[in-house]
Amino acid sequence: MAEEVSIHPSVDHGIEPAAPDFAGGTLVCLCESDPVRVEISGQSAHNHVCGCTKCWKPKGAVFSMVAVVPRDKVTVVEHAEKLAVVDQSAAIGRYACSGCGVHMYGRIENKAHPFHGLDFIHTERSQERGWSPPEFAAFVSSVIESGVDPSRMGAIRARLRELKLEPYDCLSPPLMDAIATHVAKASGALRT
Ligand SMILES: [Zn+2]
Ligand SMILES: [Zn+2]
Repeated sequence: MAEEVSIHPSVDHGIEPAAPDFAGGTLVCLCESDPVRVEISGQSAHNHVCGCTKCWKPKGAVFSMVAVVPRDKVTVVEHAEKLAVVDQSAAIGRYACSGCGVHMYGRIENKAHPFHGLDFIHTERSQERGWSPPEFAAFVSSVIESGVDPSRMGAIRARLRELKLEPYDCLSPPLMDAIATHVAKASGALRT
């Protein structure tokens, strides 16, 4: 029997399409009392599954699922006092709930960073349906760093392709191009 490959609960049973004119929703942490609520007033973009060791993953998932939204679309509406940045030295300040550990949003304060102005969110923490679906898989080889046996990588990449989530070991080519363009404009190699 073929090995069952679980990627993430939001993609394992098929990927839901985006809803037209989707206006956003509210992300809620896992705390049973006094949950943190974060309102997102717009559709997400660049949603993907991510194999890195920094993104928050639901229990048992090999990958996280993470998207971006403009930072001005993100408002903490309840229990902001429970949020703290998990790693102050990371480029992305990931605000996690101190009660349950869910990362509610990730923010970049460095204005020179290619993705400054975009916050990272996990749309699965919202009850609303119609967020932009994941489009690719990032940092796939990094799942080994969280303890996945390297012998499983063939099956994992095959399952990602079956789900139409093209596996990349960094970000997708359009996002890598966006980063390189930002760097080239900053250095003067490309004129704006
Ligand atoms: Zn919580
Ligand atoms: Zn990640």
